[in-house]
Amino acid sequence: MPAGTEYEVVVGMEVHAELATRSKVFCSCPVSFGAPPNTQTCPVCLGMPGALPMLNRRAVEFTIRAALALNCQITPFSKFFRKNYFYPDLAKGFQITQFDAPIGHDGWLDVEVDGEVKRIRIRRVHLEEETAKLTHAGDDIITAGNSLLDFNRSGIGLIEIVTEPDIRSAEEARAYLKKLRATLVAVGVSDCKLEEGSMRCEANISVRPKGSDKYGNLVELKNIASFRAVYRAIQYEAARQSQVLESGGVVRRETRHWDDAKGETAFMRSKEQAAEYCYFPEPDLMPLEISEEWVEEIRRGMPELPDARAARYMRDYGLNKEDAQQIAESKELWWFFEQTAAKADGPEVAKWLVGEISAAANASGVELSQSRLRPEHIAELISMMESGKISGKIAKSVFEDVWATGKAPADIVRERGLSQISDEGELRAIVRRVIEANPGPVQDFGAGKERAISFLVGQVMKESRGRANPQETNRILREELARAME
Ligand SMILES: [Zn+2]
Repeated sequence: MPAGTEYEVVVGMEVHAELATRSKVFCSCPVSFGAPPNTQTCPVCLGMPGALPMLNRRAVEFTIRAALALNCQITPFSKFFRKNYFYPDLAKGFQITQFDAPIGHDGWLDVEVDGEVKRIRIRRVHLEEETAKLTHAGDDIITAGNSLLDFNRSGIGLIEIVTEPDIRSAEEARAYLKKLRATLVAVGVSDCKLEEGSMRCEANISVRPKGSDKYGNLVELKNIASFRAVYRAIQYEAARQSQVLESGGVVRRETRHWDDAKGETAFMRSKEQAAEYCYFPEPDLMPLEISEEWVEEIRRGMPELPDARAARYMRDYGLNKEDAQQIAESKELWWFFEQTAAKADGPEVAKWLVGEISAAANASGVELSQSRLRPEHIAELISMMESGKISGKIAKSVFEDVWATGKAPADIVRERGLSQISDEGELRAIVRRVIEANPGPVQDFGAGKERAISFLVGQVMKESRGRANPQETNRILREELARAME
């Protein structure tokens, strides 16, 4: 490539999400996280020869629900295939999945980056089975002395969601993943916990000279376990591939592994061809017929999606777009918002939620729903601020105590003696003391230095431990200063 060529990154994403059905997709074993290893298994999900799979209707319904939420067409006549390969986490030697007739196809998801809406096309949404969970004793697969297998995960319903190569930056990839998770959680098909592995993500990344319409060689990137990792990994890989091209090299088609600690990708294996899996129709399962009536029934029962919820919050509660989107994308936040906004001003509640409350949750590592904070607490804080009982600054300090103790704000204000001082006599006495103690700034003010007044207000606040009513302080201070100047 000529020097100075600008490159653009082209990304397609493959996301796997475990279905939150009560039982597995081809047997009746329960689905739950954290049970003792190999206690939730049967001959089907252990892959015993001769065991016959039975399709879980609910898993199909969840897949249709996810596909509809992603604006997909639903395939009326679908079927399952065997994808043949050997790996210890796959006892049967094949995975039951879908091939040329995925349940959902040709959909899209809109994401927003820097205020611009970008449509990411969804190529397919299909249903398959989870493999068992492999744990390598020791640090990694290379140095491990042995590996352990847990079949509790084997046979859990899994949906795979594949985009077209429409993503053009690390920001877009992260925004897509966030929006996808919010959408799947909103329609209740998966809890999408990246940290527990119930949502996993792979990216197909290539680069090409900007303006070109040809695709470069694909690198498949695995082990992306957080929103931050997807962003950093794509940034890294885009730079690496651009550098290879710039120095006259060829990007190899391969699978690479993201090392989050090192902040770089590493070669895993050269890319296998799809044909090597030798897909063939699963003979033990009937073809899957999905009637239009069933799809319509599922469509009618669909919960509200994040975009619709955000639009409603802007319309009904007067929230700004950013707050509305942030709240609508998290069930934790929107549940709390709706409970609180029934008793207090919506935009004020939103401000608390995306500000202090989210910050406290992040800092303490406690999810909002698991915290001691209740919607009534925030409604009470807002009402005390509105009535002038406490200032905004005091409210933040009271909030910290509420978060830590779960006590009612009114009790904390009473116990800590934090009520705002609005009493004229009391305020005037403090103001006079401050004027007396600060002749310099008082003179400055007399000489026309308007800024001196904020220093004096600050002193009154200090004297009153932040309890002085700011408007009243300002008024009385000006009166007293005028008197002192006479
Ligand atoms: Zn089973």
